[in-house]
Amino acid sequence: MLFIKEVMKLASSSYTKEDQGYTMSTVMQEAARCLLCEDAPCSQACPAHTNPAKFIRSVRFRNVKGAAETIRENNALGAICARVCPTERYCESACTRAKIDGPIDIAGIQRYVTDMERKENMQILHAGKPNGLSVAIIGSGPAGLQAATTLLQKGYAVDIYEKAPKAGGYLTYGIPEYRLPETIVDYEVQRIVNLGAKIHYNQAIGKDLSIDELKQGHDAVIVAVGLAKVKMLPMFEHNICKESAISFLARAKESRGELSDLPENVLVIGGGDVAMDVVTTLKRLGVNHVTDVVYEEFKEFKASKKELAGAQAQGVTIVDGYVPTSVRQNKVTFKARNIDSEMTIKADKIILAVGQQADTADLKIDLQHNEVPFRAAKYRTPDPKVFATGDIVAGDQTVVYTVQKGKEVAEEIDRVLGGSSND
Ligand SMILES: Cc1cc2nc3c(=O)[nH]c(=O)nc-3n(C[C@H](O)[C@H](O)[C@H](O)COP(=O)(O)OP(=O)(O)OC[C@H]3O[C@@H](n4cnc5c(N)ncnc54)[C@H](O)[C@@H]3O)c2cc1C
Ligand code: SF4
Repeated sequence: MLFIKEVMKLASSSYTKEDQGYTMSTVMQEAARCLLCEDAPCSQACPAHTNPAKFIRSVRFRNVKGAAETIRENNALGAICARVCPTERYCESACTRAKIDGPIDIAGIQRYVTDMERKENMQILHAGKPNGLSVAIIGSGPAGLQAATTLLQKGYAVDIYEKAPKAGGYLTYGIPEYRLPETIVDYEVQRIVNLGAKIHYNQAIGKDLSIDELKQGHDAVIVAVGLAKVKMLPMFEHNICKESAISFLARAKESRGELSDLPENVLVIGGGDVAMDVVTTLKRLGVNHVTDVVYEEFKEFKASKKELAGAQAQGVTIVDGYVPTSVRQNKVTFKARNIDSEMTIKADKIILAVGQQADTADLKIDLQHNEVPFRAAKYRTPDPKVFATGDIVAGDQTVVYTVQKGKEVAEEIDRVLGGSSND
């Protein structure tokens, strides 16, 4: 079944098209493969502590609402994680069935359940009784959205301050539409707004408002600003042919697949999942020659096998084990790391996908000498009213991991403020 789904995905050539997912009968076939293990390893391997064994059992009994309740207990962004979670690193890698004939397609089943939840407008989450306390959250990425949900369930008032015109962080401005449709992100955000979150758009904290102003109006402040600043290789600093991966992906998403300034021949540098999103997006937008040069050799690749296979199936040329040594306008020279070899590639455009870092300078907060990722004990900063979470704190930089960090910071604030014990 997994194989059939991959082929369906790759066959879709347009920029926006998402595969259709399971039907009732195919999801039952997949759920029937589950061994319903005791102390299920899949549950233990989920960073957000979701219990796939429990929701798959509900699906087998055709109790889709029960399955949705299990998913939402631990993950306010369950429909998003169903599409983008690197399950081969988490639940599916631990699945007992993997050793027999392949892991259960846990993400696919979760997607079916959350799609049904949306279609049937199920109301699963509820806000707690108001406790008179309020929390300001800076940033509406997955960390901010999950922290908001957990706090609202405990009765806190929540204001989210977001510098962009839309919520979602990299869910909205990074992950390509064919992997994560905008409608799904909008749906998840709207459910959190319906719970009571107030989102203040176009509010850059540090510019439009200061953290001190937020502290005056709220009992605690959460910094969940993510890694917004691109890393740049120094030799490309003043190069006019280059663009960062983040800028390109944001433009591709905003243009809804109608980018008109793309040349025939693009060189991409970098080999992580973000680089795979760039090369696949370029191909889906119709660029003929896409070459990706990667520092790592294939055996060391950081990108998920699925994303790498997807890029290769689209016809991207991937050259592994080379490092750039010099650049002159649109000509980049690379040297092999492990063999005596050099090559020069001429391209009409160069896209750099070499990582992101935090940009907290405007916030003027002390993140332990601005060490990022911030290694916060219990998500605390030196200021007792200010907490930090999401990608800016140490830990995996994935949506599901960030969801867990969002829950944990909310639990810590609740321990400090005692809001849920007020009633
Ligand atoms: C291209 C790309 C593809 C990815 N693909 C996947 C994937 O397939 N699976 C996966 O699990 N993970 C993926 N990730 C990683 C995942 O998106 C991040 O781990 C996650 O978004 C981090 O969440 P966050 O809330 O910490 O930060 P972000 O998502 O970065 O959100 C931070 C928010 O804070 C706002 N903000 C920043 N500064 C301020 C300020 N001063 N004032 C107000 N608002 C501010 C930003 O505008 C943004 O909305 C991908 C990332 C990228 C870039
Ligand atoms: S480990 Fe695999 S087979 Fe066992 S309960 Fe989880 S999904 Fe089912």
